[in-house]
Amino acid sequence: MDWALFLDVDGTLLDLAPKPGEVVVPRTLRPRLETLRRRFGGALALVSGRALSGVDQLFPGGHDAAGSHGAEWRLAGTTTVLADPWPDEVATMVVTAAGLLPGILVERKPRSVALHYRDAPEREPAVKALAEAAIRNAGTELRLLEGKAVIEIASPEADKGMAIDRFMRVPPYAGRRPVFAGDDITDESGFAAVNRLDGLSLHVGRSLVTRAHFRLSTPVSLRRWLARLDQAPGGVSDHELP
Ligand SMILES: [Mg+2]
Repeated sequence: MDWALFLDVDGTLLDLAPKPGEVVVPRTLRPRLETLRRRFGGALALVSGRALSGVDQLFPGGHDAAGSHGAEWRLAGTTTVLADPWPDEVATMVVTAAGLLPGILVERKPRSVALHYRDAPEREPAVKALAEAAIRNAGTELRLLEGKAVIEIASPEADKGMAIDRFMRVPPYAGRRPVFAGDDITDESGFAAVNRLDGLSLHVGRSLVTRAHFRLSTPVSLRRWLARLDQAPGGVSDHELP
């Protein structure tokens, strides 16, 4: 059986940093992904909450990826953004209001606004209240995405499970068995998608509640697993599962 590999970035491939801009890509990781991509017939995509432009800063090359939790994606060099309505005026209001909360890092992405409160964890209730009020008053359907020290207001179709399903319908992904590794609440829809497709769902971290069937404790252990996968003669097989 041939496999397709889907990988979240922050907290999965890369160790988390105090700010999203401070993450470090280990020296060997980019070449590792290149060889794995060749090995999997091109069926390797990063699936991140970062905007696609942010993914590209960390992993240049214009390879397949989904950004903004799947609201934008690139397949074989062609980039697509969700066509559903997105209330720019709501996003602007949220950016302005969140700017008044000290310690909150505001990140505007295609089809979402992320409010990072890692530097001011005591502001989580205020950030959540702001996001909920914006969603109530938006006049269009929006969803609240909660992650590690981040709350995001996003298009309802910004969903990693939908992103993986989209890739799996087209070559070189179609007909393969998907693997998805992720670490956060927003990755659960991706785990559900690969479970439905009889794939391999892999949670990175120590969360007790997850739909993933397999678990690795840290990004370091995931990178080691990818290195073993790269060197194993048969690719993904049961004895290599974490
Ligand atoms: Mg993550």
